[in-house]
Amino acid sequence: MTEKKEDPILMDGKTVAAQIREELKVRVARLIDGGNPTPILATILVGDDPASATYVKMKGKACESIGIESQKIEMPESTTTVELLSKIEDCNSDPNVHGILLQHPVPSQIDERLAFDTISPEKDADGVTTLGFGRISFGQSAYPCCTPAGILRLLDDYQVPLEGKHAVVVGRSPILGRPVAMMLLHRNCTVTICHSRTQDLPSVVSYGDIVVAAVGRPNFIQGDWIKEGAVIMDAGYNPGNVGDADFDACSKKASYITPVPGGVGPMTIAMLLEHTVQAAEKAARSQ
Ligand code: NAP
Repeated sequence: MTEKKEDPILMDGKTVAAQIREELKVRVARLIDGGNPTPILATILVGDDPASATYVKMKGKACESIGIESQKIEMPESTTTVELLSKIEDCNSDPNVHGILLQHPVPSQIDERLAFDTISPEKDADGVTTLGFGRISFGQSAYPCCTPAGILRLLDDYQVPLEGKHAVVVGRSPILGRPVAMMLLHRNCTVTICHSRTQDLPSVVSYGDIVVAAVGRPNFIQGDWIKEGAVIMDAGYNPGNVGDADFDACSKKASYITPVPGGVGPMTIAMLLEHTVQAAEKAARSQ
């Protein structure tokens, strides 16, 4: 008779993120009590994509919940690159703004990469600049992209050993797959990055001690692709609250797994808040 495998440990991002927020609340109160201005995150929303508007609203509420302010900047769908860059420059030079978030995606006429790279690295709370990516890749100090930072924080919180482990990252987007791969490499994982042209993906995924699902396709990573005891970090968030990994099937083999919702998602916002508070603390120290 074969023994039934134990259920995997659910990595509860909601609870970990709530703890981080409580700690941040204290740090924000300390800053304000010390005579410093209330930290401000400027959020720039261009156009009228309803999903983006919802994300910005959620981030604004999250700011309020820890005592920081969100300065909402809304620009029309017809905004040009020059107009957006000018708005970002205004935020860069405003001493009251500590973090800047440009909601992705922007309308197609805008050079999004140029816009991201116009954000001052000191205020890049969302971790989207090319410079920040480069610095993170070399293990230097910068604000990392928030979802990758949340994934690493969750792995650390659950004390998942990383050194020497084979991490397979499925997805290579600039905000998720690439930066998380670099961060795992910096932590001495052996990293494989997969994408839409990867051949025999199931076989590649089967080598992963850690599998990061960052594809944008519901239930894409199959249970029979993963190895026994793999750690499944599902960054996916698809309509109907479905992740990029088939949760039920992967749970039968995984040792740790993030649920969707309540896994990686809440960590992303917690990291954005943490970076904004760090930026405000740095600004306070340099006064
Ligand atoms: P993205 O920019 O669309 O990138 C998707 C990646 O998946 C691309 O690199 C693509 O490869 C790869 N891919 C697509 N089809 C594939 C296939 N059949 N086989 C292997 N790779 C394939 O998406 P993203 O922005 O990184 O987001 C990924 C997921 O994370 C989505 O579900 C999104 O909703 C979620 N997300 C969650 C948060 C959060 O806060 N929790 C934040 C951001 C994103 P190519 O490069 O070859 O096209």
